[in-house]
Amino acid sequence: ERTALQELKGKDNVTTDGRRINLYANIGNVSDVDKVLDSDAGGIGLFRSEFIYLGREDYPTEEEQFVIYKEVLSRMQGKKVIIRTLDIGADKQVDYFKLPHEENPAMGYRAIRICLDRPEVFKTQLRAIYRASAFGTAAIMFPMIISVKEIRKIKEIVEEVKTELTKEGISFNRVELGIMVETPAAAVISDALAKEVEFFSIGTNDLTQYTLAIDRQNQNLDNFYDSHHEAILRLIKMTVENGHKEGIWVGICGELASDTTLTRTFVDMGVDELSVSPTYVLSVRKAVRDI
Ligand code: PEP
Ligand code: MG
Repeated sequence: ERTALQELKGKDNVTTDGRRINLYANIGNVSDVDKVLDSDAGGIGLFRSEFIYLGREDYPTEEEQFVIYKEVLSRMQGKKVIIRTLDIGADKQVDYFKLPHEENPAMGYRAIRICLDRPEVFKTQLRAIYRASAFGTAAIMFPMIISVKEIRKIKEIVEEVKTELTKEGISFNRVELGIMVETPAAAVISDALAKEVEFFSIGTNDLTQYTLAIDRQNQNLDNFYDSHHEAILRLIKMTVENGHKEGIWVGICGELASDTTLTRTFVDMGVDELSVSPTYVLSVRKAVRDI
């Protein structure tokens, strides 16, 4: 079966009746790019940039980050790379951020909340990404969004960064801006959010956690953590429909994207992109081609 999958390299992700979807891969580190290239994914649908911040003594500088993003973009040779801005807090703790102790970190000070609260940290990352954008096709997405207000604030900060870079004579490419839909709030108001961004990427790991009120880390609850729950499927469907009404594309980058028992459901819903671990790219391609 492995060799049969290998023969799908270079083939389209297209159903027998001609519906095409984008099949991208998720990465956490530069070294994962080898696996992405080998998997024949069409791009990187989720670069979990927080791995750059983990396991260090101090903040990564703009230059350090620039070098990493540039390498990923260059090695992808023009294929799209969607960089998710810093998503720490909750399960990913970093000492030098000196985050306050929390009783309920999954619902606490994390991700975009930290970035909006500490704009200097956020701007350093955005500058690094924009500088690197000159070397490929970069997109940025923001995690844990719950409101239109957050997106407007983010866009202001992005504009400041672009203005600064322009003043400094540093060139950058156009960068597509999107959000993760991984809170029930974002899914429910996706009609309004779709007017503000260029794409949605649904994070089913957190969407399941927050919708079902089940800690994704608690192994005692594994039997209850059901990403096939009707509530999750309805939220996904609604998000796709609301995105399409505003003419933006909608993908899924949580683990559910690689669940081939749902590939047909996602294609029927109109999902435009699935982003999966590089290991699953060819099995999802097969599932699409079998439809
Ligand atoms: C998700 O929540 O589905 C997701 C893709 O992000 P992470 O797993 O990094 O929280
Ligand atoms: Mg998440």
